[in-house]
Amino acid sequence: MSEKAQTLRLDSSVQYVKGIGPKRADALEKIGIRTVLDFLTHFPRRYLDRRTLTTIRNLRAGDRITVVGKVVSVELVSGRRRRLVLIISDETGMMECIWFQGLSYVSKLFEVGETIAFHGKVTVYRGPQMVHPEFDKLSDAGESDPLHTGGIIPLYPSTESLSRQGLDSRGFRRVIHGILPLFNQGMTETLSNSLLKSQNLMPVHEAYETMHFPSNWKALERAQYRFKFEELFFLQLFLILQRETRHTEQKGIAFEHVGDQVRTLVERLPFELTSAQKRVLREIREDMKTASPMNRLVQGDVGAGKTVVALLAMLIAVENGYQTALMAPTEILAEQHYLNIHRLLEGMNLQITLLRGKQKAAERREILQGLEDGTTQIVIGTHALVQEGVAFHKLGFVVIDEQHRFGVMQRANLMEKGLQPDVLIMTATPIPRTLALTIYGDLDVSALDEMPPGRLPVRTVWRKENVRDKVYDFIRSEIHQGNQAYIIYPLVEESEKIDLAAATEGFELLSTTAFSDFNLALLHGQMKSDEKESVMQRFKAGEIQILISTTVIEVGIDVPNATVMLIEHAERFGLTQLHQLRGRVGRGPIQSTCILLSSYAVSEDGNKRLKTMESTTDGFKIAEADLEIRGPGELFGTRQSGILNLKVANLMSDGWIVEKARKEAVRIVESDLHLETSENRLLKQTLRDQYQSRFGLIQVG
Ligand code: ADP
Ligand code: MG
Repeated sequence: MSEKAQTLRLDSSVQYVKGIGPKRADALEKIGIRTVLDFLTHFPRRYLDRRTLTTIRNLRAGDRITVVGKVVSVELVSGRRRRLVLIISDETGMMECIWFQGLSYVSKLFEVGETIAFHGKVTVYRGPQMVHPEFDKLSDAGESDPLHTGGIIPLYPSTESLSRQGLDSRGFRRVIHGILPLFNQGMTETLSNSLLKSQNLMPVHEAYETMHFPSNWKALERAQYRFKFEELFFLQLFLILQRETRHTEQKGIAFEHVGDQVRTLVERLPFELTSAQKRVLREIREDMKTASPMNRLVQGDVGAGKTVVALLAMLIAVENGYQTALMAPTEILAEQHYLNIHRLLEGMNLQITLLRGKQKAAERREILQGLEDGTTQIVIGTHALVQEGVAFHKLGFVVIDEQHRFGVMQRANLMEKGLQPDVLIMTATPIPRTLALTIYGDLDVSALDEMPPGRLPVRTVWRKENVRDKVYDFIRSEIHQGNQAYIIYPLVEESEKIDLAAATEGFELLSTTAFSDFNLALLHGQMKSDEKESVMQRFKAGEIQILISTTVIEVGIDVPNATVMLIEHAERFGLTQLHQLRGRVGRGPIQSTCILLSSYAVSEDGNKRLKTMESTTDGFKIAEADLEIRGPGELFGTRQSGILNLKVANLMSDGWIVEKARKEAVRIVESDLHLETSENRLLKQTLRDQYQSRFGLIQVG
């Protein structure tokens, strides 16, 4: 054993820890604990303090509370309902804990004399009771009660299978209690001295001890701060190293001239660029001039005018003799971009093509040929554009629309083809600053934070089934005034077929009843692309007055004359999606309306979402509400899950620490990009040994 102890290192496998055999090691592996370090960073989920506990005598019905007591008796009671009754006591009285379910398991769990903390709601029937409480065992029978010996008791997260292996809260506490002293001399500091000093951080070993066995709350807070700072600091260091390495070391294209075509297009536009558009364009231009590859994200709410900015940047690339590609998330959007761009660039003598998923073989061959020999300058399509079989003559600039999630992977795809184009990612998902610093921390970010003039905020109302007829009347009156409408059906299930059925039924019913005197059309994801295109064109031209659609129109469709949107079963949509959908109206000078129609029974979250939609059109407020309801993990897909893999810090509540950590990371990387000074070498090593794999998903960036 002592040999085991002496050789224990942070990166040792948990098997070498005293008390962990192969079975426990297996169970630990399932929750991601493989090394001693993983074990030590399995921090308590909460703490118990004897001084703040309520005694049994003072319990009141309805309290949600923690009670600590010794088990006095354990009894399986039969009768009308079989149940397990546990009587526990402290110095002031007795309480019953009762289980009706899982009796064969729980009845074996408790022994007379054990000290246990119970968490639950108190009811009073003869005396105080808790039914199906949660519990943490604090000590075995006959052992001294840690509440009397220690001060604050750590309670660890566990699982049933770990508990079966003896690794419940108490088991974790014991094992960690055994590990910590082994590092008394040997636990290497992970942060540099200057950081410890400037940020007033608790040294590493003391911080681990305090997290697991705090002597008081103040010390615990300092330990928590240290780990939050450390975690966020290494995350920022990682992101900034990626960004700076790209800036200084990777070789991209320097687009040297801005010539006549950009100017021609600006003059041709039927509107003046907003000052935000001009500023963002300048920022992009600066990036394009330098030889390092651009990786810039343009963040702008729905309708802020991102497309024209992207198009101007694409023209710069074209004028410098390069090809450029625009990737949209769906075929419909790609088509729409194609039509718009085609129209705007008419007569400028440019070769523009649309690459579809399903094109006739001959047509496709011809398009691919044009990309390969360089005669095509601008190509628009979905992400299929960077997939196999597509070769470019001289691809220099790529725009990825509304798809930040896949942006990084696509860059990796491009790099595999030996291409290092400038990349511009456009997103309408506005997120709070500290989250942006993390999620987009390795990108340069431009904010398109001004709407084109003359837009009226969309009036949004939430209505229920009982006024459906009035809603239809309203839509009719709008159409009589020459406006157009969307009616959107939700994704009912994961299946596109059912999704489609709802929209199709709606279409058939409405064309023969409420709206039989208007021209209606149906749009959905399973139509052939030329059918979709023709429907969109007819809607744009005003031949179709009501477009019935599934969520395929979620992003990017632009018909300023459409002033009404009716969303069926609005309670089933996510907030971001509702906001995106609503962005399809309010794009012209006429007051627009969005009607959220729901059934009567709406969940609590659904209620929050619909209320939020009614109360604001501000994308930032909506994103914040969405984060609150769903949490960041849900909001961002694969790319970010690595980044959001934080153990101690919370991106929402620890925003100020994010800012501090970022500032320090920037300062360090700016003065020492390769982390070569002796202090920074330590940081580099910690990053590599303890953090890289956790944040690793974004490495491809
Ligand atoms: P998004 O940022 O949602 O992609 P778009 O680029 O689709 O927005 O632009 C929305 C609409 O606003 C389009 O019809 C576009 O032509 C128009 N638009 C863009 N910039 C301006 C501007 N500066 N002034 C007026 N209209 C503009
Ligand atoms: Mg757009």
